[in-house]
Amino acid sequence: MGSNRRQLHILFFPLMAPGHTLPMVDMAKLFARRGVRATILTTPANAITVAASLGRASEAGHHVETLLVEIPHAEAGVPETLADANSVDGEMMFLKSTARLRDPLEGLLRKHRPDAVVSDMFFPWSGEVAEELGVPRLIFHGTSFFSLCLSDALQFHHPPPESSAGEEGGLYAVPGLPHRIELDRGQIPDVWRMPEFAEVFAKMRQAEKICFGVVVNSFYELEPEYADHYRKSVGMKAWHVGPVSLCNDEDGADMSARGGGIEQDNCLRWLASKEPSSVVYVCFGSLCRFTAAQLREIALGLEASRHPFIWVVRHPTGKGSPSSEPRLPEGFEERTVGTGMVIRGWAPQILLLNHEAVGGFVTHCGWNSCLEGITAGLPMVAWPMFADQFDNMRLLVQVLGVCVSMGGAKRYTLREEERPLVGAEEVARAVKVLMGGGGGEMRRRARELKEAARAAMGEGGSSYGDMGRLIEELLGKQITPETS
Ligand code: UDP
Repeated sequence: MGSNRRQLHILFFPLMAPGHTLPMVDMAKLFARRGVRATILTTPANAITVAASLGRASEAGHHVETLLVEIPHAEAGVPETLADANSVDGEMMFLKSTARLRDPLEGLLRKHRPDAVVSDMFFPWSGEVAEELGVPRLIFHGTSFFSLCLSDALQFHHPPPESSAGEEGGLYAVPGLPHRIELDRGQIPDVWRMPEFAEVFAKMRQAEKICFGVVVNSFYELEPEYADHYRKSVGMKAWHVGPVSLCNDEDGADMSARGGGIEQDNCLRWLASKEPSSVVYVCFGSLCRFTAAQLREIALGLEASRHPFIWVVRHPTGKGSPSSEPRLPEGFEERTVGTGMVIRGWAPQILLLNHEAVGGFVTHCGWNSCLEGITAGLPMVAWPMFADQFDNMRLLVQVLGVCVSMGGAKRYTLREEERPLVGAEEVARAVKVLMGGGGGEMRRRARELKEAARAAMGEGGSSYGDMGRLIEELLGKQITPETS
């Protein structure tokens, strides 16, 4: 940085959900390594995720601080983070409650006067506050360029409703994208059918019109046509700075602590007893819920596949109270001793994905998981359920060729009881394709992308360069540069 400029100060304000908080903490660490003063603003309930993930950034001399703010007038029964919600209604209540942070944010921006705010797409009101105070606001959506382009295309070309398609599951080719992308009508987001969500999304769109730009956790070489399309055709100013999880790479301790780790010694000892690339890692992120019947089919399918597996079974509350303990089929864990390991609650995902014994990943296609699988060079099975997960699946399967889709997972819905049951045979089949000979070409391609991801983040790489350009632009906008 030039001698007549102040140290750049950026405030990061993620949604209180691991899939948004973890990448933003990683991003803050990356900016801090480039000389930026980074502050993460979060609630006390989400602070543990932040603290565990900050690792030793500050010890290493990189300036990342955490600022806590309470959601005012919290009502009884409203979940404190998105992962604590146990139902769609709970999720909606939580999302609505975050808008009460508008006034506290305004106070904090006035007091701390950061040079820029990177805030979550779910906080459109933060854009209005930042604009009033003349602070550049960058939006973090937490998804791919591909998904951003697809949502934009769907805004302009509303697909006809499912019922008019003639038959269930008719395909809809989305106009105006770099590739021919066909959507199954049942997989088109149901936000349009849910007025509260439609309202939130309309506000987000509005906020995009007044933002300074968008930061994307992706790298150019992964989706060049979509990075270009988003900037040129959609017309958004965007910087790609990922895969941000690579900031944890050099330090095994950071990888295992990320997000509030578990005792992982057991897990690592177990993996050490397995052949290279022989274990399938199965995890559906921090928010997906399953019915008891679906959990049973997954268990039986993993058992029938006869491949070693690690399966992360999330507690419905995300907190793991004994009453919410998910029930697995009788005798399942005894029968799979030696071949399988069930992790209840939270797994050190990036540590496990990068273990040499892990050879494939069954994922719900949350964007972080997709990128983390790619960065670990793993072929994947896609089992999307909602949000951007179907978009990400299309990118992985149709464009990148590193993934097969789980045939039965067809319907976009936030409600687990509305999803068609994916049978054990389907689960076993997918795992066999992934871990058997069928995964060879996907594995080769995934390994190429792993190298490309590392190159993008290294000095001289595309993401490294884009972060540098963003820092320069923000320095150029500093309101009161020091002259001495
Ligand atoms: N994650 C983890 N351990 C778990 C579950 C999730 O470390 O047991 C991390 C995962 O590595 C990723 C994030 O939580 O960084 C989940 O984000 P993603 O976008 O994949 O899915 P979401 O949880 O938002 O659906």
